[in-house]
Amino acid sequence: MITDTYRHKGMRKALVKILREKGIRDERVLQAIEEIPRHYFFEKAFLEHAYQDKAFPIGEGQTISQPYTVAYQTELLELKPTDKVLEIGTGSGYQCCVLLKITPHVYTIEYNQVLYKKALKAFQELKVHPQAFYGDGSEGLPVHAPYDKIIVTAGAPTVPRALLMQLKPGGILVIPVGSAGTQKMLRVKKVSETDFIKEELEDFKFVPLLGRSGWK
Ligand code: SAM
Repeated sequence: MITDTYRHKGMRKALVKILREKGIRDERVLQAIEEIPRHYFFEKAFLEHAYQDKAFPIGEGQTISQPYTVAYQTELLELKPTDKVLEIGTGSGYQCCVLLKITPHVYTIEYNQVLYKKALKAFQELKVHPQAFYGDGSEGLPVHAPYDKIIVTAGAPTVPRALLMQLKPGGILVIPVGSAGTQKMLRVKKVSETDFIKEELEDFKFVPLLGRSGWK
């Protein structure tokens, strides 16, 4: 059982200040980061690292994304409290908790069974209730589609067509796409069933999206 102390709260305030300085403007995202105890997602030995603006290993060769990256991707989604959101790459579950502070309708899918089970425990401990799934999310989660927003938290070789199909008209997909080394953050807005507007944004370095429409 990990506790949330005044010291942790102070460290979160300092982290939010850094994110503001780096250009994050969505107050709901900053508020979520100020409220969520990121140290709950870390092993006891590494708690000191929880409020640095850095990605950190969570086992199985995967990482909890850097807070700036989480804030940046979430801001790009332009979330509404009624949005139905799909997250691909649950990982630790932290990004999912940030989404849940803004909308209760969050679906999340993880390909690694060990991490999936760990994330379920974290959700239980934090008393949050996403719809969590184990499986290959590189082609979305068609059984619950369509979604208002889709966020991919692993680097993809290309934009999977299935994800565009699972967006509602007016919906937004945020996905890092590029080589295994670096990826460009893309925001794709679905204007109508056949029209899309694509924006190419900052460079990032994500772990690879695996699976049928990911890296083999
Ligand atoms: N959102 C996570 C968090 O808040 O901790 C960080 C995710 S980590 C950078 C990327 C995750 O994507 C890893 O946990 C990895 O196992 C998962 N992943 C990779 N390929 C996937 C796929 N095809 N479907 C679902 N998850 C996948």
